[in-house]
Amino acid sequence: MDYKQRQSRLQGLLAPSHLDALLLTHLPNVRYLCGFSGSAGALIVTEERCVFLTDGRYTEQARDEVKGAKVKVLSKSPLAGSADWLAENRKVLGRKRLGIEATHLCMADHAGLKKTLGPSFHLRPAPALVERMRMVKDSEEIACIREAVILGARLFESALQTIRAGVPETEVAGEMEYMARQGGADGMSFDTIVASGPRSARPHGRASSNRIPSKGFVVCDFGVILAGYCSDMTRTVHVGAAARADRDFYEAVQGAQQAAVQAVRPGISVAEVDQAARNVLKKRGLGRYFTHSTGHGVGLEIHEAPRVAAGQNEVLQPGMVITIEPGAYVAGRGGVRIEDMVFVVERGCEVLTPTPKELITI
Ligand code: ZN
Ligand code: ZN
Repeated sequence: MDYKQRQSRLQGLLAPSHLDALLLTHLPNVRYLCGFSGSAGALIVTEERCVFLTDGRYTEQARDEVKGAKVKVLSKSPLAGSADWLAENRKVLGRKRLGIEATHLCMADHAGLKKTLGPSFHLRPAPALVERMRMVKDSEEIACIREAVILGARLFESALQTIRAGVPETEVAGEMEYMARQGGADGMSFDTIVASGPRSARPHGRASSNRIPSKGFVVCDFGVILAGYCSDMTRTVHVGAAARADRDFYEAVQGAQQAAVQAVRPGISVAEVDQAARNVLKKRGLGRYFTHSTGHGVGLEIHEAPRVAAGQNEVLQPGMVITIEPGAYVAGRGGVRIEDMVFVVERGCEVLTPTPKELITI
């Protein structure tokens, strides 16, 4: 990854954002900018310098991983160390307008920073500069995401071998997660969702000790983290023969997913992509059962910008990676969701998830 280039781009955004320095404490942003993958670190970016701060547990890892930034290992927290560094270097910081990541800094930490820095510093919530950079992936990131998606998709084969009436949902999730680790995953992108029978009507039904009933849908939503990058996909299968009405229900969601995928191209707004999925479900009389947004960006985090939802005006650009995951959920009956990851390219999009979407009955 070209960390130096990312740092320079960010440095070029400071003055236009009316900032003399930016303190990054959100770890995925820190990782994106300098490569550090540990759990305690902060990065200070000024127009001329990048300083990475961590504690003694990460001495070796920081020296290994951090690129383009000066590494400081402290005997105090990275945040307290950042405040000290800024206070010591106050003379070189112009008007001392310090951008902070307001959505990731708790009130206690904010108060601590203010106390150490004193009245000459102006703490300002910074715009989402790094999040915006991260929306458009470079070729190395795309390569990582492709590998994560391929490994993630293999877990569905394991799910298909395990899903049977009477098997606990956690057993299905367990087999999938074991396969992920065997395949080299750093971990799961999120708690694996295996929601069977009436539980499939819960969009976020984490695998429970419930046994899969002899009839009904099973929603499986899962992803791996591989080399730092997340995958995310959902497939819904049916246990027992599916009645005509269940097939229609499934096909409505499949049609909505297809319509949204077909809408994805540079220049279209995320709200329009969301609308494309919603229109299909509305026509099938299922509009009110589609209770979440159509998708989200994926990368170092499982949910990152942009949100693919109504009311969002972000416009798609080549290099973005988003999910397309409409669903419909009817309490007492069950639910269906189908989710792929797609990569926005010049002429439209490439569906990264290789798994077929026709209804599978078990
Ligand atoms: Zn998902
Ligand atoms: Zn998702």
